[in-house]
Amino acid sequence: MAHRVRRALISVSDKSGIVELGSALAALGVEILSTGGTAKLLADAGVKVVEVSDHTGFPEMLDGRVKTLHPTIHGGLLARRDLPAHMQAIEQHGIGTIDLLVVNLYPFEATVAKPGCTLEDAIENIDIGGPAMVRSAAKNWRDVGVLTDAAQYGPVLEELKRDDGLSDSTRFTLAVAAFNRISNYDAAISDYLSALQPDGSRALFPAQSNGRFVKLQDLRYGENPHQQAAFYRDLYPAPGSLVTARQLQGKELSYNNIADGDAAWECVKSFDTPACVIVKHANPCGVALGADCAEAYSRAFKTDPTSAFGGIIAFNRPLDGEAARLVAKQFVEVLMAPGYTDEAKAVFAAKANVRLLEIPLDQVRADGDTDWARGRNATDVKRVGSGLLIQTADNHEMSGADLRVVTKKAPTPEQLADLLFAWRVAKYVKSNAIVFCGGQMTLGVGAGQMSRIDSARIASIKAENAGLVLAGSVVASDAFFPFRDGLDVVVDAGAVAVIQPGGSVRDEEVIAAADERGVAMVFTGVRHFRH
Ligand code: 5GP
Repeated sequence: MAHRVRRALISVSDKSGIVELGSALAALGVEILSTGGTAKLLADAGVKVVEVSDHTGFPEMLDGRVKTLHPTIHGGLLARRDLPAHMQAIEQHGIGTIDLLVVNLYPFEATVAKPGCTLEDAIENIDIGGPAMVRSAAKNWRDVGVLTDAAQYGPVLEELKRDDGLSDSTRFTLAVAAFNRISNYDAAISDYLSALQPDGSRALFPAQSNGRFVKLQDLRYGENPHQQAAFYRDLYPAPGSLVTARQLQGKELSYNNIADGDAAWECVKSFDTPACVIVKHANPCGVALGADCAEAYSRAFKTDPTSAFGGIIAFNRPLDGEAARLVAKQFVEVLMAPGYTDEAKAVFAAKANVRLLEIPLDQVRADGDTDWARGRNATDVKRVGSGLLIQTADNHEMSGADLRVVTKKAPTPEQLADLLFAWRVAKYVKSNAIVFCGGQMTLGVGAGQMSRIDSARIASIKAENAGLVLAGSVVASDAFFPFRDGLDVVVDAGAVAVIQPGGSVRDEEVIAAADERGVAMVFTGVRHFRH
């Protein structure tokens, strides 16, 4: 049943859209109560408004810490209209009902996100009266509508104009959104304070974490059809992250599309020059740099045309028509890029099933946090029975200067560039990872084997199957060679330069083997297991 709205209370920190809302409510004959700053804004705009302090007969005090914490306000929000005892009680105390509440809270989350935020700033931005009112209104949702987000203003106004009140289902939906908002707000305060250490710095792994996620969509099924699944995003996603993707066309994303898409996107984002990454079953099956998207794609495709069938293809540059026409020749499940030219869009318009995802890149935060700007997570989470494993994400970037040449032969500058390229790709390949490269493209990828030797063998077999020559190639191994046999396999296959972490008890044996075989080898001192 639609309930008429006679009196509304508006108290907002973020005042966008509030004059429009206030005027529209006033035009509908709604009496408006409001707190200091909001009341002033409305009054200045010519909206008739009663200050909460005039309504309660009690002034705002303690620098605004106490504004609406008064029985006249909470009685008006909490009284059940269907209980005569409630209505008599408020009448006895001269309390009038409040039918609509519009509140957004002190900006706690935005305040603590600012570099250099002090504990005092954070504390002053903990809203007390706002959440209390929101809880009162949401608890009494059968009689009161509660708006906690500017996106709700338009639809609610429409309904008020159309139906002269709000329906039960609207008030219930608004109440759920209100409790979600309060819960996220409290979680942000709890997370912030739980991570504060005695010296004022923030702990990466606090004693308790309320990390919040927002549901984006239900998925048709999970990894397999008998599993149910849904997709969530962080409450505050970074730009450039997969969850900010806009789907321009194509079938609904599946669980595996998203998982594989993430692997492709994380890998392609790690390159500064035009790159293409093709992923199948969470592993890159082709990665290449090129002068443009078309060249990068053609080269990436060559690594493993068989596996590329039905793959996920990611670019770190906007896709143009030429590249789109090349890609369109193969069966592709998902395409990802920071943008698409009209010509590229036109190419795929004819292939309605292909999912086109647009993910803007290149936004940099004021404090220059490039990991954040690239949408990289600070931590990785893995579910284990009744628990979580949390670690800092593997965001390590290797530079040439950090490498240690351990063999008599040093890599040529060209080989060095390929070694760094191979190392970057290996980071995104499931362990054990062996990645042969040459000319800034992958030539053979061995992934996910229990033995490093098997990965090496598979990588060289795959290169051979693709008609690629490994003679003169370079190779990356995500972890050290425990014995010389793995090195012998990659050198037998044609590698002339090797990049690996080092750190085995048999390093000396492996280095001697490399010298004996006349190849160059560099140690990174860093391992890239990925399970
Ligand atoms: P205004 O700008 O209208 O003066 O203040 C609006 C803000 O005050 C809103 O964010 C609202 O949630 C908050 N607020 C309303 N009542 C109280 C209260 O009693 N105590 C505190 N700390 N904040 C309140």
